[in-house]
Amino acid sequence: MRAVVLDFFGTLTDPSAESGRRASFAATAAQLAVDPGAFWAEMSGSFGARACGDLGGTRETLAAVATRCGATPSPAMLDDAVRVHLAGAAGMRVPRPDTLTTLAALRARGFRIGLISDCSSELVESWHSTPYAPLVDEPVFSWQERCRKPDPHLYATAARRLGVPPAQCWYVGDGGSREHRGALRAGMRPVLVTNAGHPGAAALRVEPDDFRPDDVIDELGDLLALVGAPDAMIVHACDESVARRSLADGAASA
Ligand SMILES: [Mg+2]
Repeated sequence: MRAVVLDFFGTLTDPSAESGRRASFAATAAQLAVDPGAFWAEMSGSFGARACGDLGGTRETLAAVATRCGATPSPAMLDDAVRVHLAGAAGMRVPRPDTLTTLAALRARGFRIGLISDCSSELVESWHSTPYAPLVDEPVFSWQERCRKPDPHLYATAARRLGVPPAQCWYVGDGGSREHRGALRAGMRPVLVTNAGHPGAAALRVEPDDFRPDDVIDELGDLLALVGAPDAMIVHACDESVARRSLADGAASA
């Protein structure tokens, strides 16, 4: 195995942080001068479309959702709503205590690191300012790819960008969006993070998986013991003979 592909929410992020979503959405609704209950219903009901990019970026999304709630916010109100909304989104993606050290340790061992996230515009627009970005080689976002897990396109895209065949990729997630079945179908080796230490987290999952992988860990940090070290790069016989020839040429000209 040469790469580790991870889910984002509830896997890299602190699973308990999701419980702040209702208050965060209420703060955005206040900026748009719409009813918080109506805003929550429209945002929750449109997650699938938002995660596939159907409503555009955060500003376009908030304008569209406000319209559905019967409001027409001014440009200045929209500016404030975007700022408040993105700040709220940041609060729901705080890393688990062992996330950044685990990613750094995997990279230090030589694993390529990928990400597949079913996410709406907020994460994509903010990705490069998050502490995750420097530790992930190839992030794949549903919002950009216009499809959600378990769509095979997402897994194939992650493997292709990493330059690692799917059979050489672990796939690690907390089990939302039927992601493990998708990973298995794509040829990756799925790992479930149970979040056993976060008893309320399971109720916050979207479309829980009915399939339980053979490889199971409770905390993300347990991944280090499970995956060990990456396999050495397999050098193709042809490449090897070329390498030998160039070494011999080098020796002859020295
Ligand atoms: Mg998840």
